Amino acid sequence: MDNEKLIRMCVVCKKRAKQFSLNRLQCIENQINIFTGRGRSFYVCNECIKTKKFINFLSKKCNKSKEEIKKLIIHFPFSISD
Ligand SMILES: [Zn+2]
Repeated sequence: MDNEKLIRMCVVCKKRAKQFSLNRLQCIENQINIFTGRGRSFYVCNECIKTKKFINFLSKKCNKSKEEIKKLIIHFPFSISD
């Protein structure tokens, strides 16, 4: 397989990038996780993952309040800037 052709889109800024340069996450059973290899997932770039826009996206995607989202992603290896 040619990895150069695996282009995916950031769900926040819609920028297209190579799959391996984006963060692949998913909402499963009311948790937000790094993609486990099963089920539906979405991609977010390294810039957007730190933004409030991404929290807004997760809030809709996972059907939770923004406050709940912030708690869910608190263990992630990045921080959301206010
Ligand atoms: Zn982005």
